Amino acid sequence: SSVQLPSKQKAALTENIGDSVEVIQYTDIDTPQITSPTDVIIKNKYAGVNYIESYFRKGIYPIASFPYIFGREASGIIAAVGDKVTKYKVGDKVAYVSPSTFAQYSKIDESKVQVLKLPESIGDDQLKLYGSFFIQGLTALTFVHEAYEVKKNDFILVWAAAGGVGQILVQLGRLIGANVIAVASTNEKLDIAKGLGAKYLINSSKDDVLAKVKEITNDNGVAASFDSVGKDTFETSLAALARKGTLVSFGNSSGTVDPLSINRLSAKNIKLARPTVMNYVVTQDEWDFYTEKFLKYIKDGDIKVEITKTYPLSQYKQAATDLESRKTTGKLALEIPQ
Ligand code: NDP
Repeated sequence: SSVQLPSKQKAALTENIGDSVEVIQYTDIDTPQITSPTDVIIKNKYAGVNYIESYFRKGIYPIASFPYIFGREASGIIAAVGDKVTKYKVGDKVAYVSPSTFAQYSKIDESKVQVLKLPESIGDDQLKLYGSFFIQGLTALTFVHEAYEVKKNDFILVWAAAGGVGQILVQLGRLIGANVIAVASTNEKLDIAKGLGAKYLINSSKDDVLAKVKEITNDNGVAASFDSVGKDTFETSLAALARKGTLVSFGNSSGTVDPLSINRLSAKNIKLARPTVMNYVVTQDEWDFYTEKFLKYIKDGDIKVEITKTYPLSQYKQAATDLESRKTTGKLALEIPQ
């Protein structure tokens, strides 16, 4: 069953690898159609912007085939379902995590993709939030549980603390009772981190991060460094760790971390983790556990996700420019033309 799908749709995509955002096109492309009985087609209304898109565009992460439609998460309504689909019907409001969401329509396989059904009554602001917080929320949550299990009174270092993932890491650290040391490049960004519960603030444009960490921790170092900046900060993270500390290296915002000899870890019995969120939420149980936990934090008001700017889909190039030039804080979203 389906509503009539147009043959063409608008999408933000690229046909080439490119360092520059200029390879991003806003253009017409074929609308996906139901070709298997478990296919579901979602008409997207909002999509969350994530830094990972720049890695695909730049060729840091591989792209299987072109054109590559950007996007990893979205919310909207079910537009068509295959004959064997039982969980969803046309008209259901949903949020989900899957590739190619910067488009008016996306196709998913019911048996492979986790979809959260939303109440009929949900308003547009809520719909936008649900389409925008899963990747960053689940990243922060799974990492503080599994990459390094943060404990009360731990000192933890959070880089890019006013960014999308960073803001949630800071709040989770506060909730657990850890001493969060936030690093960001401007005082405005540090004010945001402070408001979310960071106890100590380091301005990476002015301060010597390592010296500050030593001062704050009485020369002991931190139990963990949550480092998404990558190339520029890896060595500082390593040096900032306490004995038996954990380096959670999870991004390449400044470039990919250089290869290193594992023998370097023995000096302080360091653990090095290089996780990706989607490998922590593979099974149904894992997905349920973490999404329920995250949604409860949101519902109870313990964690706030701020969508600081919403761009029309046609302006994704601008959103990518702003994100990659360190101009943004919190979460960016796209509004998709209906
Ligand atoms: P952010 O909102 O955190 O934006 C990136 C921030 O990184 C900037 O605002 C900036 O903060 C900081 N930064 C430091 N150096 C640079 C640089 N040279 N160029 C650009 N930015 C820089 O983005 P997201 O919340 O979307 O993602 C945060 C990081 O987490 C990314 O690296 C992303 O890839 C990673 N990630 C990894 C996941 C995983 O599964 N492994 C999942 C989700 C995200 P400041 O100015 O304060 O330094």
